Amino acid sequence: MAKRKIIAIDGPSGAGKSTTAKALAERLGYIYVDTGAMYRAIGWKTKKEMILLTEESLKNLCSITDIRLDRSPTGVGMKIFVDGIDVTEEIRTPEMGMMASAVSAFQCVRERLLELQRGMGRNGGIVMEGRDIGTVVFPDADIKFFLDAKIEERGKRRHLDLKSKGMGDDLVRVTDEIRKRDEADIARTLAPLKKAGDALYIDSSNMTVQEVVETMLKEIKKDEG
Ligand code: C5P
Repeated sequence: MAKRKIIAIDGPSGAGKSTTAKALAERLGYIYVDTGAMYRAIGWKTKKEMILLTEESLKNLCSITDIRLDRSPTGVGMKIFVDGIDVTEEIRTPEMGMMASAVSAFQCVRERLLELQRGMGRNGGIVMEGRDIGTVVFPDADIKFFLDAKIEERGKRRHLDLKSKGMGDDLVRVTDEIRKRDEADIARTLAPLKKAGDALYIDSSNMTVQEVVETMLKEIKKDEG
């Protein structure tokens, strides 16, 4: 039987990581993990409890917060719970994206989530997507992809995605929000967003989801020899 691999997908916001990671996991019969949702979950609780954005307050918050990921009953997606509350839908707003980005720069938050993420990948058979999966979480991942797309295209995709969820903001504002978030993710000291040296770079600007998934599957097959 083929080895159940660890597949890392990193890249900026709106590059299509979640959609392709989900489809890839489905094709391979692997678990899919959206690590951004974990940062959003911490951001959600930080906002709800009006926690100060300091290392000390967040450390305390992380030590008492239970984050749980469950396979969605309707497919390969996942549901995320904070202290038993299902926050899967609530964390998808642009505001929670910014909160996630803010808390993600703190060491205590990253350490806490790193531990959970490594635990999930212990037995392989996982497609994990985020910003630092190939560089920090699993530097020895079997296969790494860095999925990118032009900022205009990423803005359009995120805008459509939000609209489909009834959060139709205007395109310029959505594009600006992801640009700001990317800048912060690239500039931070801890686990910044960057391509791992051994990751395959894919520009999905002119590709369909299907084409990206096929490119990834080809690469995985190549690795199997
Ligand atoms: O992927 P998503 O847009 O949900 O991520 C929200 C934010 O969480 C990112 O902008 C980034 O600041 C943070 N994040 C991170 N490391 C990851 C995944 C997400 O810092 N592995």
